[in-house]
Amino acid sequence: MIPFLALGPTYHELKADIDDAIARVLDSGWYILGPEVEAFEAEWAAFCGASHAVGLANGLDALTLALRALDIGPGDEVIVPSNTYIATWLAVSAVGAKIVPVEPEPATHNIDPDRIAVAITPSTKVILPVHLYGQSADLNPILTLARAHGIFVVEDAAQAHGATYRGRHIGAHGDLVCWSFYPGKNLGAFGDAGAITTNRADLAERLQALRNYGSRRKYVNDEQGVNSRLDPIQAAVLRVKLSHLDAWTDRRRTIAAVYAEELKDSGLTLPHVPDWANPAWHLYVVRSPDRDRLQSNLTEAGVGTLIHYPIPPHMQEAYASLGLAAEALPLARQLANEVLSLPMGPHLTSADARAVAAAIRDARA
Ligand SMILES: *Cc1c(COP(=O)(O)O)cnc(C)c1O
Repeated sequence: MIPFLALGPTYHELKADIDDAIARVLDSGWYILGPEVEAFEAEWAAFCGASHAVGLANGLDALTLALRALDIGPGDEVIVPSNTYIATWLAVSAVGAKIVPVEPEPATHNIDPDRIAVAITPSTKVILPVHLYGQSADLNPILTLARAHGIFVVEDAAQAHGATYRGRHIGAHGDLVCWSFYPGKNLGAFGDAGAITTNRADLAERLQALRNYGSRRKYVNDEQGVNSRLDPIQAAVLRVKLSHLDAWTDRRRTIAAVYAEELKDSGLTLPHVPDWANPAWHLYVVRSPDRDRLQSNLTEAGVGTLIHYPIPPHMQEAYASLGLAAEALPLARQLANEVLSLPMGPHLTSADARAVAAAIRDARA
């Protein structure tokens, strides 16, 4: 049995350090924001090569508050990928702005800069690329477009902890970079957590107020904020795990290399990695027109797989109100029908990856 992902082993490997970190917070008597959150923010900003990190309650809040910090609202348009987790779209809806979906480059599954260029209108305020599966979108043409039109770039980096674009970690290319530390992410808490990294001091300061009831001084509320504070217990856990992130990313890269080698003649479409990307391999996603049969054969062989994502946002009931036909975004629909995520994570060995590849070859024989 090779599970798609196992979270327990990470805890057991680090149990002594994690238990100490949690006990340290409980002993401190300080349970909201405070020194543990500030320490993680400093360490995460440094890892990302950003001047600031603001710890938040989850990744969806990070996206939503990023748009609020930029004063995005009704009448504004936000360009998002057509093939993403629905959170990216929900953040735009939450601030009342208009979702403008743009299709991906088929080879990388990431938003296509050429299609962004033709989707920009005078109402476009933000381009919101997602570094899907842990591989960076092509940021330079996106940043060039944004500068030319005076619009912001907000990155959804919920899958990209440790990924690099042209040699630099994701975390400070765009105006605001949004993170999730949901347990299954490459850097995951033991519950919900999120953050935004940025080089802009003014936006970091605004976000610190927005996450805390719009307050800068206790009982003085400058604007209508929310409660979306990073929990200090989760911050303490994340500090322990951050010290292992590079080693875990290396392990994911090794697994990805084994898959690439062992599956190169399998007939599956394998991930395409442009030379400017070094992915963090949150997911290793292959494509096959015969995906459903492959998945059920692998389940029978004891190999766990998942589909990211089976229904694109525009085909969800939640977005029926947009009135987009399934065919309106054909690439998003096709990818949803063909993608399959293989087991991936620091819990896997190279031998596991070879066994998965052998099971795939058998399943397709
Ligand atoms: C996980 C994820 C989110 C949302 O993060 P939560 O912490 O679960 O709210 C947003 N976007 C993408 C691409 C994700 O993978």
